[in-house]
Amino acid sequence: MPHRSDTSPGRADTSPDRRDTSLDGEHSPAVVAATSARIEHLTCRVLTIPTDAPEADGTIAWDSTTMVLVAARSGEKTGIGWTYGPSACAAIIRGLYAPLVVGSDAMSVPRTWGRLVKASRNDTRPGVVGYALSAVDTALWDLKARLLGVSLADLFGRVRDDVPVYGSGGFTTYDDARTAEQLAHWAIEQRIPRVKIKIGESWGNRMERDVHRIQLARKVIGEDTQLFVDANGGYTAKQAIRLMRDVRDARVTWFEEPVSSDDLHGLALVRGMVEADVAAGEYGSDVGYFERMCAAGAVDCLQVDATRAGGYTAWLQAIGVAAGHGLQVSGHCAPNVHAPVAAATANLRHLEWFHDHVRIEAMLFEGALDPTGGAITPDPLRPGNGLTLREDVAAHYDAEGA
Ligand SMILES: [Mg+2]
Repeated sequence: MPHRSDTSPGRADTSPDRRDTSLDGEHSPAVVAATSARIEHLTCRVLTIPTDAPEADGTIAWDSTTMVLVAARSGEKTGIGWTYGPSACAAIIRGLYAPLVVGSDAMSVPRTWGRLVKASRNDTRPGVVGYALSAVDTALWDLKARLLGVSLADLFGRVRDDVPVYGSGGFTTYDDARTAEQLAHWAIEQRIPRVKIKIGESWGNRMERDVHRIQLARKVIGEDTQLFVDANGGYTAKQAIRLMRDVRDARVTWFEEPVSSDDLHGLALVRGMVEADVAAGEYGSDVGYFERMCAAGAVDCLQVDATRAGGYTAWLQAIGVAAGHGLQVSGHCAPNVHAPVAAATANLRHLEWFHDHVRIEAMLFEGALDPTGGAITPDPLRPGNGLTLREDVAAHYDAEGA
């Protein structure tokens, strides 16, 4: 294979810790094997997992969650990544992406990512295509880290050991007892100092119950835990402003999607009128989306979802956009996907410890992270994302009967 060196001609790197082997002309066998690796297989499967109770937020209800799980193999190493999205993602991955990924250089993930983005032009990136792209990209990065024998957090460049999380659930379908039980589990048993409930029930038509549930949440979690709410776009702007006035004593500090995240003017209007930080961005599909949201002054903290926006490659672009606007980012859902890249994100605020996904990831993967104390810590000694699929559990939820 051709010799590789990162040192440009005439620009010798004299840093003492540089592990470049160009001086003696030899790489270790492991590095040589990794840097010559081609991706041999790309497969995906669709897993549908029922919820543990009926769930709804302000604007949609569901009774199951679908994971599209991708495996990328090179030699004896397999990388895994996933998205939570419709089973239609599988058709994109198998029909459009797999032929482009197989045979590609396992070390050059952004190059392959660029090819996939270009190939998606006629299918349009937002939505199913972007979700499929995300599942593939996260698997490719995981494979690269495993080939090199390093953790994903260290491949990206760790800036912190512990990644703060907030407990997220509090579905509108829960009665008071279930809501209180879940909040106490996070705030008291697991000592997570931030929790979030869903509001905006029935597209904002049950404001009295929203007020009741916010006050209940504050009572359960005590004075020292931060209280977040998420309306999933269920309110009008003025309605959202009135709600925050009515629950002022509950000291809500995070108001997510008070209005539709497509209504940048409405988000900015609410942001200017409430004390809570306004957040949105979970449907962001590319850097242009995030730039428009930030430039509109629509958010105090930008949400990014690597399982929707285009994987880790897109996350790394999005955090730069946010930083350029002086903003922090918060990772939306799929905490075991986000943990490694969050550990490498300087302008990170926190990750969403979302009930559904936490439950699914703990069932499916050995090595799923523990939020006790309010943070998760990717293990630097476990290569890649540190996860091992429990094949027997996955087979149980295989929606395609494979
Ligand atoms: Mg949300």
